[in-house]
Order: sequence, then structure tokens, then C-alpha cells
Amino acid sequence: MSAPQDLAIAELTRVLAALNVTATLHVGHVGDEGDGFRWSVAGDVVTVEGDGPRGALFGAYDFLESLGVLWPVPGREVLPTTATLTDSLGAGAPALLGRCMIIGTVALLPVLDDWVTWCARNKINTIFFHTSPPGSGAIGAIPHEDWLGARDQAIALLRERDLVFELGGHGLTHLLPRDRFAQTPEAFRMVKGERRNDSNFCSSSPIAIAALREGSRALFEANPDVDVFHVWPDDAGSWCHCPECEQVTPSEQSMRAVIAVAETLADVNPNAQLAAISYL
Ligand SMILES: [Zn+2]
Repeated sequence: MSAPQDLAIAELTRVLAALNVTATLHVGHVGDEGDGFRWSVAGDVVTVEGDGPRGALFGAYDFLESLGVLWPVPGREVLPTTATLTDSLGAGAPALLGRCMIIGTVALLPVLDDWVTWCARNKINTIFFHTSPPGSGAIGAIPHEDWLGARDQAIALLRERDLVFELGGHGLTHLLPRDRFAQTPEAFRMVKGERRNDSNFCSSSPIAIAALREGSRALFEANPDVDVFHVWPDDAGSWCHCPECEQVTPSEQSMRAVIAVAETLADVNPNAQLAAISYL
């Protein structure tokens, strides 16, 4: 029995007991993936069937909603004053395949259980933990060090519900260690004829591209549970202006890096995906 199937039965059992409703439960899924579901009530028998494990869990929540159960905000469950089983049918299949909650602040980590639980109850199937690389602070993201403290709990919560796990943020420049500037300044970006060690790098430099492959390999190997990695460059068009890089647009410079990182991911974890951003 899958973990989401176990959780679906536990949630149905808990809520129906609170409502003083007696039922015989049948919960299953016909395949390994898919968020679609069907449920039925016949007498005191409640049957929930998902396309995949997550579909079974979503179907259980959909059935409970049909009784009047609500989860309006994380950490809050509202039960109807009375509930009875009546013969009925329900079904659902999402028109939008990816439905994602971005968790990008350390403030939510102490209540992570409430938030992930709320997402699944409302049929959100993806959680993106937006993090910042080591030592780079917390501007619009969860600092790396705080993420490490929450990671095990986050993975357990997502796996219990079979939710898609996305991780990362503006970590691309971190893959070229800044302390290499003295030895290989040609790997770093040029502005007005001078190399500098801030922000993005020289996309024409084989040394820089090799560093991206090396750094991203370590990142991917350290995070085998991640389904989708985000490894973005710095914002604000801060790319290289060396004579070679000036021949291409900032978007093309970014894509050179994306291709190197994507090839590395395909080698380390071919089941995972790399998200690329298109604004620069
Ligand atoms: Zn360059």
C-alpha cells in the first residue's frame, strides 16, 4: 500500500469519527501516477479510487469536502455540525497538471506541516522550496542554512503525499567559487574591459562552464530526492561584456549555462528536471 493511500485512509477515519459517521472504507489507485479520482457512497461503503497514489489522496479529500469539511487556511479544519452518508458519486481530474505552492520564507518553516498538509487537502500537487545558496542571506528566499534544518521534515511531508519536490533559486553564480578569481580571472565576467568577481560569469570561458558542471554535479548528488531543480543566474542583466560574450545576448549567455547544468543533471539523475527562467 502506498504512503498517500495510507494517509487517505487515516484522514478519512479521523474525520468520519469526529463526525460520528460509521463507514467501511475502500481506498486504492489504478496506476502509479495521475491526480484524477473517483469516489462513491453506497450505503455505508465509501470507495475512493485514484489514477495514482496522489489521486487517491485527493479523492479522499474531495469526498470529505462533499460532506461539508473545509480547510480554509493552513492549520485550520472546519467540520459541519452534522453529516450523514447518502448514496452519491464524485470525480475530478485537474485541467492544470502542475499546481505549485512556493515556500520562500524562513517564517513558514516552523509551521511547515500545516502548510504542506493544507496544500494536499486543496489538491496542490507541487511544493517549490525557494532557497538561497550558502552564505548569501535571505532576500526573498529561505537561507541555505535554515533549509538544511528543515529538509528532512520537508522531504517526509512531501513523500507521504507523493507531492512533486522543487528546490533552488538564484544559485548559478555560486557554482563558480569566487575565491578562484585570483587564479582564473578569465572565468569571470568583464565590464568595461576589466574582469570582476561579482554576479554572473564569462559564458565563453571553458573554465567557467567546467566549474558549473562540477558544482552542479555536487548539488544534484547531494539532493537525490528533488524532482525539479531551479539553478538560476543573477537578475538584472549582470552578464559578461568580453569581446566574445558581446557577440550574443544575455539570454543566450544564460542558456549556455543552462545547457551545461542540464547535461550534468541528465547524467546524475535522468528522472529529475531543470527549471530555467526566461527573464533577464
Ligand atoms: Zn565573456
